[in-house]
Amino acid sequence: MTQRIFHGIPVSSGIIIGRAYSLDYKSLTLEPRPVPSDRVDDEIERFKSAVELSKKQLSTIRSQVKDDVDERHAAIFDSHLLILEDPLIIDETIARIRKDSLNGEYVFNAAVEKIASMFATIKDDYLSARKLDLYDVANRVINNLLQLESSKLSRLEEEVIVVAHELGPSDTAHMLKEKVTGFVTDVGGPTSHTAIMAKALEIPAVVGLDNITKYVHTGDTLIVDGSKGVVIHSPTIDVVKEYRGAQQQLYEQERALLSLRHLPAETLDSHIIGLHANIELAEEVDHVLRHGAEGIGLFRTEFIYLDKERMPTEEEQFTVYKRVVEKMNPHPVVFRTLDLGGDKFLSSIPISQELNPFLGLRAIRLCLEYPDMFRQQLRAMLRASVFGSAKIMFPLVSGIKEVRAAKRILEEVKQELADQGIPFDKNIQIGIMIEIPSAAVIADLLAREVDFFSIGTNDLIQYTLAVDRVNEKVAYLYDPLHPAILRLIQEIVDASHRHSIWVSLCGEMAADPAIATILLGLGLDELSMGAVAIPEVKKTIRGIRLADAKELLNQIMTQSSMQDVRELVNQRVSEMSRPTESAPISDSASGKST
Ligand code: PEP
Ligand code: MG
Repeated sequence: MTQRIFHGIPVSSGIIIGRAYSLDYKSLTLEPRPVPSDRVDDEIERFKSAVELSKKQLSTIRSQVKDDVDERHAAIFDSHLLILEDPLIIDETIARIRKDSLNGEYVFNAAVEKIASMFATIKDDYLSARKLDLYDVANRVINNLLQLESSKLSRLEEEVIVVAHELGPSDTAHMLKEKVTGFVTDVGGPTSHTAIMAKALEIPAVVGLDNITKYVHTGDTLIVDGSKGVVIHSPTIDVVKEYRGAQQQLYEQERALLSLRHLPAETLDSHIIGLHANIELAEEVDHVLRHGAEGIGLFRTEFIYLDKERMPTEEEQFTVYKRVVEKMNPHPVVFRTLDLGGDKFLSSIPISQELNPFLGLRAIRLCLEYPDMFRQQLRAMLRASVFGSAKIMFPLVSGIKEVRAAKRILEEVKQELADQGIPFDKNIQIGIMIEIPSAAVIADLLAREVDFFSIGTNDLIQYTLAVDRVNEKVAYLYDPLHPAILRLIQEIVDASHRHSIWVSLCGEMAADPAIATILLGLGLDELSMGAVAIPEVKKTIRGIRLADAKELLNQIMTQSSMQDVRELVNQRVSEMSRPTESAPISDSASGKST
């Protein structure tokens, strides 16, 4: 096989050389297979058993949701169970297996597709959502017929590099426990949650490769260079040798950087900025401490929910939160309340299919719509707060009304705990994420409501520039150095300081050492990023002066084009830093493909 080189968007650095594992869900084509006439009854029995097993699984999920959440959420599974009673699907499948003597999965799939195509002709949100339910149930039955597990990633036996058209955050959540050493996908953007997860797990990853799934098959050799966005299929021996050398070099650089672990991020003119870590799973805490984080600036708690079929109970959440707070103590942990929706979904929450999920029922909007679920999470967080230092933060706030509604619920939950004699930190700090332009513009008003801000630039950039953060086709427009973004950040920082509250920035741009220099100049009190990025950012900050960062910022603010800003920053940051510590802006933070 000849060597082929692919270029995509680098989302998680590191080099990995290994075997590919093609996770092409679409390749599960169900072929018609004739069944001998004396086996037709057995085939019908096989189909009926798969339907019965599916019903049993759905009933179990239903009762778990009823116990752990409430009856309203459990009721979603009634509609799933009803699909398995539908004569148009079930009786039709049985009749056709008998009439045409064909295999159950093929005939069942055809019956499902027939119904789905009827839904497709009617433009109605409710029916679109039913179509999703239909496919969900159909997948379950087909998996049971073929005796497949629902997640292929839970069946890996050796270390692999996953090759997929697309991966959902819950697929990535599985990777922690499985043997995935890297992944590459056809689609995806630099700040998709899948990409963020890869970084957190230190799995080299490249996305937006267009059609790599067409060329790479399970077992093929791949090199993934997650820093440059390069994937090499069937590399020559010389290329493998070259990359092994580069791997070793990276390893040594990393070791040198980790030696800064116990030092503060202090500039040459004695200004200190806090460097904290973003995490998705409790398992990351050791890794966070190893990289010298001074706290957790963003705990994306929704990932605890994403790898489960049902909602975790208050007790399950409390156990996880307590573990994180205890292990991080005395360093603070900022718990962000559920940010589901957008590109993160959960089968047990009935979010109907939306045309623009990133503008829809997401994050704090979803929590306010489902207050019982919200209360349960707040209870777990408050209970964990006595085991160290915890703070609570609400995501995707668009205006005052939402903050007040969320705070009101929090106060009720606190009162409930107090009445029950359950301890919690009564002075727990409350913050909000500033990640919608409307919130940025009224930051001065919002600052009166809370103890701190955290600027979520991953979303702020997407909403300000109208660039979908997970769409590789517009990734070239996704630029953290756009003058509009820099001005918004400046206004947010100034508003928060005028009202004496502290402000952090937890979007991916903080992880780029050169951009971190600009953020230092902008006056942020804290930066929060994937833990792997902390040593490099710390090294850059320790090599510059705050005064120089401010001067660079003044120059940048007068530039009108992103290109000019980028060139100026690259040139000035490498001049400012000590010769060995230059850190040019990488394309990974900007979302540009190589
Ligand atoms: C952000 O939007 O910048 C952020 C940190 O939140 P998330 O990436 O989880 O949306
Ligand atoms: Mg966000």
